[in-house]
Amino acid sequence: MNSHTRRTTGRTVVALSVAAVVVGAGTAGAIGAGQDPSAHGGAKRLSGDNSKIVKAAIKGGTSDNVILLIGDGMGDSEITSARDYVHGAGGRFPGIDALPLTGQYTTYSLTKDAKTDYVPDSAATGSAWATGTKTYDNAVSVDIRGKAQKTLLELAKKRGLRTGNVTTAEIQDATPAVQVSHISARSCYGPVKTSATCPEAALENGGPGSITEQLLNTRPDVTLGGGAATFAEKAAAGKYKDKTLLEQAASRGYQLPTDLASLKAIKTASQSKPVLGLFAPGNLPVRSTGPAATPGGGKLEPARCEDNAKRPATQPKLADLTTKAISLLDDKNKKGFFLQVEGASIDKQDHAADACGQIGETLDLDEAVQAALAFAKKDKHTTIIVTADHAHTSQIVEAGSTTPGLTTNLLTNEGSPLTISYGTAAAGGSQQHTGSQLRVAAYGPQAANVVGLTDQTDIFFTISRALKLKK
Ligand code: MG
Ligand code: ZN
Repeated sequence: MNSHTRRTTGRTVVALSVAAVVVGAGTAGAIGAGQDPSAHGGAKRLSGDNSKIVKAAIKGGTSDNVILLIGDGMGDSEITSARDYVHGAGGRFPGIDALPLTGQYTTYSLTKDAKTDYVPDSAATGSAWATGTKTYDNAVSVDIRGKAQKTLLELAKKRGLRTGNVTTAEIQDATPAVQVSHISARSCYGPVKTSATCPEAALENGGPGSITEQLLNTRPDVTLGGGAATFAEKAAAGKYKDKTLLEQAASRGYQLPTDLASLKAIKTASQSKPVLGLFAPGNLPVRSTGPAATPGGGKLEPARCEDNAKRPATQPKLADLTTKAISLLDDKNKKGFFLQVEGASIDKQDHAADACGQIGETLDLDEAVQAALAFAKKDKHTTIIVTADHAHTSQIVEAGSTTPGLTTNLLTNEGSPLTISYGTAAAGGSQQHTGSQLRVAAYGPQAANVVGLTDQTDIFFTISRALKLKK
């Protein structure tokens, strides 16, 4: 027996388990798991003609609120392997798989000289939906010529809506940064890096400042994530020169929760008292751990994923952050809101060839989607969009096989081996993004605009229509 046969060691494996397989949690006509898949029709997911359900889901018009949920690096392969592991091959995610209308979109980016780049990064892709403008990898809501493009969050704010930005990454990371800042390189988190790498944006050169400084200026009502470390840097110029960014945030009226308890204690978020929750120095610790993918790892005994002991109980989970953001943004005056939520580390665990890490982050995103959908179904004037920014490396390969790349062999909750391969970098290297189209799913007014083949930039226009945003 090797070290990976955790299932037979007598330890209780609780990670990634679910209380019960949810049958038909999605569309009303769905059957889902629970049938005998060897019987004729036993694997089908529909109970009959689905036309009425699809017709009923098509609503034009406008929304009070839009919640955009992003799984960074969550391609079809990442969704499928996480579903296989947690809910079984015939199962469904109660959140991610419950949106009634689905399509695919293209994600390519551009080079600075306007040539096609088939494999984008999170900066270009986030900028695409945030601004409606395709740009180059590394760009944060500036076009290929470096010109700032207005973002959904900025336009929503301009229309008097309330705004939120939630992530499991550093809040300066590309996906959250694209809604609140405009800069030539995604790494320009704070004044130090900005002076060196993005001098055009540095405050001392008359620019708008680093990503963090621009975030403080953009001033969403709610910002929740990691990335506290950068706030120890000091402004190099301007009104807050020589003050740390955290001191600046405090003196500008931000409420600054740092853990689940202090987040729960916050009752309101507004322009006079916005919420800036920083729950880790860097990215938030992930939900699950498991065996690393290795050369030949697919031939090992199938292993189980486990809870990450290093994720503190005091750390809010993505669903906690999402629920809190919604409750803070949903004010009684019905101003409406725009909220972006990111499950960031599906991508980061895929880069690390860590299948259990990736699956756990997908499950966390699913719980956030469930929270958003529960609100939308009650509210009835909310659009939900669930998608990803770019595809990624992991592939489901023949059980127990190896590939020229790295493989890992898992034992799913339904008791079958699931072998996952990573083949875009050698052992020890960072696995790469890939260029295939992505799933985009939606619920509520304007949801029909994700159906068929669209481009990532269409999200900007769909959300703009739903919220009546004007450039
Ligand atoms: Mg991201
Ligand atoms: Zn990535």
